[in-house]
Amino acid sequence: MFSYRHAFHAGNHADVLKHTTLIALMKYLTQKDTALTVIDTHAGAGLYRLDGDYTETSGEALEGVLKLFAPVAPPAPEAKPRKPTVPAAPEVLAPALQDYLNVLKALNPHFAQTGEAAHLKIYPGSPFIEQQFLSGRDKLKLFELHPTDFKSLAGNIEQLGVGRQVTVSREDGFEVLKTFLPPPARRAMVFCDPSYEIKSDYARVSACMADAVKRFATGTYVVWYPIIPRPEAHDLPRKLKTLAVKAGRSWLNASLTVKSSKLTTDTAGEVIRPGLPASGMFVINPPHTLKADLQLALPQMVAKLGQDRHASFGLEHGG
Ligand code: SAM
Repeated sequence: MFSYRHAFHAGNHADVLKHTTLIALMKYLTQKDTALTVIDTHAGAGLYRLDGDYTETSGEALEGVLKLFAPVAPPAPEAKPRKPTVPAAPEVLAPALQDYLNVLKALNPHFAQTGEAAHLKIYPGSPFIEQQFLSGRDKLKLFELHPTDFKSLAGNIEQLGVGRQVTVSREDGFEVLKTFLPPPARRAMVFCDPSYEIKSDYARVSACMADAVKRFATGTYVVWYPIIPRPEAHDLPRKLKTLAVKAGRSWLNASLTVKSSKLTTDTAGEVIRPGLPASGMFVINPPHTLKADLQLALPQMVAKLGQDRHASFGLEHGG
């Protein structure tokens, strides 16, 4: 059952979309004076090494965060410039991507000094991103079922020395969510990021979100989903949209496609699967600032991470 390990995928293009959105949400939601409860139903290990065995084997960060922040190569010099060359304007990162970069720099002092992607060694999972934004009154509740990842997560959080502000439990995130809603100060963000390795995860996400919205209508609910050619994956954002509309809640759906989802063949006629070509983030009750944040960040993600002519983004909202 538990073959998925996020360490193989840490820092890939899906994490870029997921974590940029998460940072924009955390930044906004922790500005208010009232305590916020953050519930991360599928937390993972919390921290990953980009130069570790798992990430090096899969190399997914190379096509994700490492590519995003790699310096742009200067254009090849022309033999005889016809016009005097105008120096290129320095690249200005969208504010949401700058915030993402700052989170990475805080964990990687050498990278912060040099700005070289080769010095980006530690990659934060959602728990460490969420924790960075908490103020003293906020609470973070983390759930992770995998025995090894749970142990790593517990150890990584322990090192922060933040006491009871952050709790880690080896429980089923779908099951426990209801026991925390509504939260004491009536402000909560729920992040639901399953691995979807079991087909039933898709139905569990929509059932869990429907139940959560019924219990606590004004919470901010955030779901990551893969965009792959299977009916359950295709239906999930549509189901979440219907749920939000029926409950009279606002919603936002952002997606990032880096390549075609079509199967190809190599020279020997072997079928090549494209890997994950695209993913999305669906947010119920998004802050009013999120759309503008992503509108600036998504085109830059496409420009930097796009692998073929199918690279694109989607951003729709309602309510
Ligand atoms: N949210 C993490 C991040 O952004 O860094 C990544 C999470 S990873 C995609 C999904 C995690 O959920 C895996 O570590 C997996 O072991 C765990 N998991 C699977 N089913 C679960 C469940 N029912 N409850 C809690 N955790 C679960």
